[in-house]
Amino acid sequence: MMAQETDYYEILGVERNAGEDAIKSAYRKLAMKHHPDRNPGDKEAEEKFKNLAEAYSVLSDPEKRRLYDAYGVNGLRGQQGGSHPFGNVEDIFRSFADIFEGEGGFSDVFGFGRRRGGARRGTSLRCDIEMDLAEVAAGAAKRLEIARTEFCPSCKGTGAKTGTKPAPCGYCRGAGYVTHSQGFFSMRTPCPKCRGRGQVIASPCPDCSGQGTIQKRVELEINIPPGVANGTRICLPGEGEPGVAAGPRGDLYCDIHVLPHPVFERRGAHLICEMPIGMAVAALGGEVEAPTLNGRQKVTVPRGTQTGDALRIKGAGLPDGDKGQKGDLLVQVFVETPHKLSAREEDLLRELAEIENQKVTPMRKNFLDKVKQYFTQTGKSKEA
Ligand SMILES: [Zn+2]
Ligand SMILES: [Zn+2]
Repeated sequence: MMAQETDYYEILGVERNAGEDAIKSAYRKLAMKHHPDRNPGDKEAEEKFKNLAEAYSVLSDPEKRRLYDAYGVNGLRGQQGGSHPFGNVEDIFRSFADIFEGEGGFSDVFGFGRRRGGARRGTSLRCDIEMDLAEVAAGAAKRLEIARTEFCPSCKGTGAKTGTKPAPCGYCRGAGYVTHSQGFFSMRTPCPKCRGRGQVIASPCPDCSGQGTIQKRVELEINIPPGVANGTRICLPGEGEPGVAAGPRGDLYCDIHVLPHPVFERRGAHLICEMPIGMAVAALGGEVEAPTLNGRQKVTVPRGTQTGDALRIKGAGLPDGDKGQKGDLLVQVFVETPHKLSAREEDLLRELAEIENQKVTPMRKNFLDKVKQYFTQTGKSKEA
């Protein structure tokens, strides 16, 4: 396969006679721009980032640069740093950690430079948030307080006493890891002296005993959109614990618990409410007052309403996703038979009962027909 001729000078945007410092600063600038943390999921940026590292690995090494100038990429065959020396982005950070060291804000924000062998993402945290249905309906801004590890403000996470700096670890030369050879294999383990940090602290910060971190209670506000479902997990990226050795922060997961409501039951975006109504209003029809999340509302009971019938109040439910629609409130009625009767009620009902016995209503007729048919088929028409 023909190796495509690669122009490392062009990749870094420097002149052929550029000095060491110009190459270093060009690489640093471009690597920041195409850094994977700044371009998450962008494969093109990642590829550029790798190509930049390849170009820099050659041009920053006087011997490799000499070979490349004389023979092109072919001159690097057999040399480390020839074609695609970097399997992944982590390798690049390990190789060029020193480039980004002490680059002020940038190195801190992106974890450049200190992303050594021991770099790890911080622990993710979890919390619970309780909401009632009114909050679900309107959406809510919830304050929450969590206990988490924070960088020590006195030493800004370095662990070194104010006015001092951590020094590169002499044992691993600041790499944070050591390599052991065993036959054909070489194994990499965190440095036992600095425990993967790549640096040692001569005068520890008194406020954090050199740990660089402290335990702190942190207040956060989280905006929960309307219509959130029970059991929803909301992720607050980067609100977990700080990473180890400049790895990224973990996330904070908030589990939403919607509290049971004394009156309403939730069914998706709909609300269901069971409500007793009187016999007379069920038969005659009329108006009753039903509860909603925003107070009472009059609702029409149609004539001849049966137990289990639902009266629908449109739009009185919960927000339905992001479509801007709302669910309904279903008032499921049951007809309550009077328990105690006044003399007057007793008289009226007795009168009604007489009429009822003479008049067969549709549901009763249907039922009696079925019973009759069953007895005919089984020959049990005679009373037992
Ligand atoms: Zn400290
Ligand atoms: Zn070390």
